[in-house]
Amino acid sequence: MTTGSQTPTQPLSGPVEDYLKAIYDLERDTQPAATNDIAERLAISPASVSGMMRRLAEQGLITHEPYRGARLTDDGRRAALRTLRRHRILECYLTEVLGYPWDRVHDEAERLEHAASEELIERMADALGDPVHDPHGAPIPSREGVVEETPRRTLADVAAGERVRVRQVMDDDGERLRYLAELGIRPGSILRVLDRAPFDGPITLWVGDGAGNVTRAVGPALGAQVFVESLSAE
Ligand SMILES: [Zn+2]
Repeated sequence: MTTGSQTPTQPLSGPVEDYLKAIYDLERDTQPAATNDIAERLAISPASVSGMMRRLAEQGLITHEPYRGARLTDDGRRAALRTLRRHRILECYLTEVLGYPWDRVHDEAERLEHAASEELIERMADALGDPVHDPHGAPIPSREGVVEETPRRTLADVAAGERVRVRQVMDDDGERLRYLAELGIRPGSILRVLDRAPFDGPITLWVGDGAGNVTRAVGPALGAQVFVESLSAE
């Protein structure tokens, strides 16, 4: 067991950790994270978000610019990454050791991530051989808070003729995960886009690599939940 954490781990409340995770994620798309987007992400009113923003700023976890939004400070970012590490190690442990299916671990991890001690998480990580991705392909921040994020390109951005590998799928909806699994779309799957209908119509694709290819169609909204890397274009 190593104790890699360099920051004094002041315990943060579950809601604070959820805010920091939401801001971390939103900041990657649009900087800074807008109050309305945080509210939507956490399913709470913008008015309560504003109150919490002030408290997070007082604790030195974010800087908050009125009318523009929030940015994490270094402390805030470290705390967000610690929570993401806990969440993703828990998901790995639940699937690999306890046999949970991949569509049922996210909600459990959302609850447990606020309660699990650093020691428990690090023992789980050791038992798993220090995994680097969770069951949905999301990168697991290291003990030191280093993470290599998945590029934001999704299946909805892929042109006809291109071959891609699935890197990560969004894990917040179990039904969506079950459907993606039915289609054969998981981290590591090879897809080839055959055709794209105009006006947000379906994306027709091959799933698989080689003789076992099957043709599937997904809508662009579903495609936007699947992060991919390009393999080749022909
Ligand atoms: Zn999750």
